[in-house]
Amino acid sequence: MTDEFIVIGAGALGLASAEALLLQGATVTVLERGAVGRESSWAGGGILSPLCPWDYPDVVTRLTTRGAALFGAWAESLYQATGIDPEYQVSGMLVLPPFDMEAAERWCVAHGMQAIREGSGLLLPDVAQARNPRLLQSQRARVEQLGGRIVEHCTVQEIDAGQGRVSRLRTDCGEFSAQRYLVTAGAWSAQVAGKWAGQAGIKPIRGQMLLFKFATPPLRHILLQDGLYLIPRKDGHLLVGSTLEDVGFDKLTTASAREMLLQRAITLLPALRDQPLVQQWAGLRPGSPDNIPRIGRHPELKNLYINSGHFRYGVTMAPASVEVLLDEINGKEPSFDSSPYQWRA
Ligand SMILES: Cc1cc2nc3c(=O)[nH]c(=O)nc-3n(C[C@H](O)[C@H](O)[C@H](O)COP(=O)(O)OP(=O)(O)OC[C@H]3O[C@@H](n4cnc5c(N)ncnc54)[C@H](O)[C@@H]3O)c2cc1C
Repeated sequence: MTDEFIVIGAGALGLASAEALLLQGATVTVLERGAVGRESSWAGGGILSPLCPWDYPDVVTRLTTRGAALFGAWAESLYQATGIDPEYQVSGMLVLPPFDMEAAERWCVAHGMQAIREGSGLLLPDVAQARNPRLLQSQRARVEQLGGRIVEHCTVQEIDAGQGRVSRLRTDCGEFSAQRYLVTAGAWSAQVAGKWAGQAGIKPIRGQMLLFKFATPPLRHILLQDGLYLIPRKDGHLLVGSTLEDVGFDKLTTASAREMLLQRAITLLPALRDQPLVQQWAGLRPGSPDNIPRIGRHPELKNLYINSGHFRYGVTMAPASVEVLLDEINGKEPSFDSSPYQWRA
């Protein structure tokens, strides 16, 4: 019998999960409250690395390292299959002070990450990036090409469950049922899971970004200083980010964030002073304690899964997180200890 899944939410994680399930022969329906790929995954910078990898516990960097290692081939396969280029490029990231250079270098040696001193900074030459809106368009096309059904403007309102199983989803576009269900609703995941959320521990954390356009890329590498980053795209666009704001589900942009990001960015790239702002936006990250996502089966409901709470690094983690999820769905021994990501009651 064919395995049937309903995936709730069409961000990077929902689409990547749907693709992998389709590739192993499942029937997949994706329910999306708005339009596909217009929330956090769209808003992000697409840096395929933690900002300062040495700041995070191994339980986080295991997923980011594996995700980053898989990303190039995944992006290429999406490009080949759909003709839409996610614009994966290994642009390197230059980390500028203040940070503990010796500790950072020690971490890089211990974790096999190349690092080169450049002036007072540390260049991580293998750090790559993707262009989020293109990645999502490509992911969507791939899911549809593989036979996945995507229902947009359909909000899941309630998970109807009893006797250890989900029986159906109530939505504002009717009821849906399948053998198994997957929550990939980003910052809204705990809300979607409702009384079944347990210790999903996911809440929105707003991030604001600025976009500029140069004739040619004004930087060779991504620049990072004390949480502020400048990301050069191939076509001369430059992203400046970001804020970390605990303001609930408020996605408005603010003048104070614009001013703060701009002034800090100008100190790193004075040419920005003369550059008009193309766009400012905000996205809601699926915030989780210590940036540790929830991946796997619900503690009580046997046919409910989650792949969410990736906080600052969901795009980076996506291919690795899907591996962990599929190992659990398929009852396979995980390639590394996945217990820290378990969904707890
Ligand atoms: C400013 C900013 C910068 C970032 N930079 C980076 C970076 O450089 N590198 C990196 O790896 N990560 C970055 N991130 C984090 C990354 O974007 C997220 O971790 C990741 O996109 C989360 O993906 P997701 O699919 O879980 O969530 P989302 O992309 O938010 O998708 C969730 C989807 O679920 C849908 N949904 C919600 N409720 C319902 C419902 N009831 N019914 C149906 N559908 C529903 C939503 O509409 C949405 O489309 C950044 C985030 C922000 C905001």
